[in-house]
Amino acid sequence: MNLEKLVRPNIKALKPYSSAREEFSGQAEVFLDANENPFNAPYNRYPDPMQLKLKTKIGALKNITPEKIFLGNGSDEPIDLIFRAFCEPGVDNMVTIDPTYGMYQVAADINNVEVRKVKLNEDFGFSAQKLLDTANLYTKVIFVCSPNNPTANLLDKAEIVKLLAEFDGLVVVDEAYIDFSPESSLLSELDQYENLIVLQTLSKAWGMAGIRLGMAFANSEIIRIFNKIKYPYNINMLTQQKALELLDNLQEKDEWVKIILEERDLMIKKLFSFPFVQVIYPSDANFILVKMHDARGIYEHLTDQGIIVRDRSKISLCDDCLRITIGSPKENKKLRKALKELI
Ligand SMILES: *Cc1c(COP(=O)(O)O)cnc(C)c1O
Repeated sequence: MNLEKLVRPNIKALKPYSSAREEFSGQAEVFLDANENPFNAPYNRYPDPMQLKLKTKIGALKNITPEKIFLGNGSDEPIDLIFRAFCEPGVDNMVTIDPTYGMYQVAADINNVEVRKVKLNEDFGFSAQKLLDTANLYTKVIFVCSPNNPTANLLDKAEIVKLLAEFDGLVVVDEAYIDFSPESSLLSELDQYENLIVLQTLSKAWGMAGIRLGMAFANSEIIRIFNKIKYPYNINMLTQQKALELLDNLQEKDEWVKIILEERDLMIKKLFSFPFVQVIYPSDANFILVKMHDARGIYEHLTDQGIIVRDRSKISLCDDCLRITIGSPKENKKLRKALKELI
């Protein structure tokens, strides 16, 4: 991979905005450099633009050095920055699997970048070769998601590694659900493959969707490009503080994951006995994809009861499928009780 050739010329030439807090990063007592208000501490101060404390903490958890970490306003931010940094609007394209997470398409559309989709197999597996064959000279990035949303399955790691080894552009692996899966993260391959970008998030297993913190891990050259084009203070002080605090709850997070996986297996066992359930696809995540007779009717019955699931029946390969998030034991019981009324 030649990063110099992958990055858009205007981004390569860009002289980034330099914030006050960035220009002086030494020790000081009197801050008269940023036109802040001296009152209303601590909210009066701009937050650390590079989130060093938080990156150090995340780095310790993941065994990654801070210069290989980018933090964003959810995973949405690094997804958008990948297009803005590497894909020339109206010229370059990206390749991804179908069905998958909708934000890749939305971010590509916003940036006027063509999306080339390759359908998954009937068993929701994918072929690296098919993705490689769909790429052309203008393909800057391949997006895969493992475990995949909405199909819930892990993708074959050997196939992802084949993409990394054979594609000369960037390969993004979205691991939003990796904590729920039996497979290990591709973070271990970061030093091996300079074209790898791993996305993770605090929104799922860590239970922090509300504070908006997404993570991208990649070699430090790629991270430097993201840092150059991001909003200077993209992670606010409250999010940085709360994440630092809640990342201490590692054991609690693992306990939540354990309960959710037990509840998932219980849900699968119970749903099998419902006559309208046709297929429950294997899940490596905190949700299940279920094919049902009259999925739309069931969806509407559930919403009438105040229970919201995701209707995926219009998505490729997901005819008559609902995506059901595994909730608390009580919530899951309520769902089953509402479904029983349909028997
Ligand atoms: C939920 C989800 C995310 C997380 O997005 P955030 O913006 O970090 O909340 C990322 N990727 C996939 C595939 C998801 O399903």
